[in-house]
Amino acid sequence: EIGEIAEQQGCNAYVAGGFVRDLILQVQNTDIDIVIEGDGIRLAKALAAQRHGIVHPHEKFGTATVIFPDQSRIDVATARLEYYDHPAAMPTVEHSSTKLDLYRRDFTINAMAIHLNPKRFGILVDYFNSQNDLKERRIQVLHNLSFVEDPTRIFRAIRFESRLDFTITKHTEKLIKNTVQMNLFDRVEEPRFFHELKLILSEDNPIPALRRMAALKLFPFLWPDLRPNLKIDRRFLHFLTQANQAISWFKLLYLPDKIEPWMVYLLAIMSRSRTKELIAFCNRFSLPPRQRRKLIAQKTEAERVAQEMQKRPFLRPSETYWLLHELDIEGLLYLMAIARKRYIQQAVSHYVTTWRNVVPLVRGDELKAMGYIPGPLFRTIRNHLIEVQLDGQVGSREDALSFIQ
Ligand code: ATP
Repeated sequence: EIGEIAEQQGCNAYVAGGFVRDLILQVQNTDIDIVIEGDGIRLAKALAAQRHGIVHPHEKFGTATVIFPDQSRIDVATARLEYYDHPAAMPTVEHSSTKLDLYRRDFTINAMAIHLNPKRFGILVDYFNSQNDLKERRIQVLHNLSFVEDPTRIFRAIRFESRLDFTITKHTEKLIKNTVQMNLFDRVEEPRFFHELKLILSEDNPIPALRRMAALKLFPFLWPDLRPNLKIDRRFLHFLTQANQAISWFKLLYLPDKIEPWMVYLLAIMSRSRTKELIAFCNRFSLPPRQRRKLIAQKTEAERVAQEMQKRPFLRPSETYWLLHELDIEGLLYLMAIARKRYIQQAVSHYVTTWRNVVPLVRGDELKAMGYIPGPLFRTIRNHLIEVQLDGQVGSREDALSFIQ
């Protein structure tokens, strides 16, 4: 359909980037990235009109995002003609603007496109021998200044390497090292860096990528307060592995709770830092207030609870409940990650799977019917009920009712 609209508008349309990479690798990818040789915004508008979508244009960049009624989205970019004079863009006049668009991408494996116009539909455009790199499982940049132009690509290289199980080529690795040495991270504050870090921490297992980041000396840029050139030592790795296990365990429960695993990993990475340093990290990367508040609250609370539980191995379920009830899931998983005793993890897992869902066996309106006046006393009774239920002193509604009377 996009190809047909393009044909009508007298321009060429391509699908490009990660979508093409994953198509060849036979991996699912729903992020569709369209490049138009012509007017991308005009095409986006026509597509939205046909499919009842909404267009969000960015006139300055010639790009647009179309959001369809089912919330799926497509990004449309314009391969701009003013770049025609660029030396790398000339070999074939017909494709030159697309070639430049692809040349400006991060890695060869992400720099392919597929024709969408009906007459050429499905033809692969590969200017940079990308297919071969995919076959050889290699990650390499398109030109030597790539990381100087955009250092966030370093994080992307590491993420793809770890996720796809590819290898960054020696030459590209050398360019990364040069960029790091040249201290090119002076723009590290940009939220884009944090965005890329968050993507790494959102992978199923970010530990190999984190080890790679440490080996490439990226940690001092992200966490200057951690020891310079921090190696991933055994204790650090232990926390990360425990975080990974806690998250995997939680995912297997298939509970409806939405979690943000990157927060658990970030807390685990910063478990040996003080709150002050976490605040500095949040400031440096301009984290949104909600995330900032949550991270700080979960860190302080989980660490307090970990100490408390360490001192008291024989807590009753109700005592565990009151200790844990202020923590979010991310804080609870972080607590499991830093717990030094098996019994702490067991208590937290009981809390997550059952105890936290406890509902008093007598409802508020029943208490009212019994003559209690709503107010602080209500709360006390309900809290007390929760305690006796959790500790097994009250097993049925009858028990609960007689307990109150
Ligand atoms: P993922 O599967 O993680 O979404 P993706 O390759 O689709 O990977 P996106 O971040 O959605 O990644 O980016 C889409 C495309 O845009 C990439 O394939 C790449 O071609 C290009 N791109 C993204 N970020 C950069 C960057 N920093 N520099 C150059 N090109 C980039």
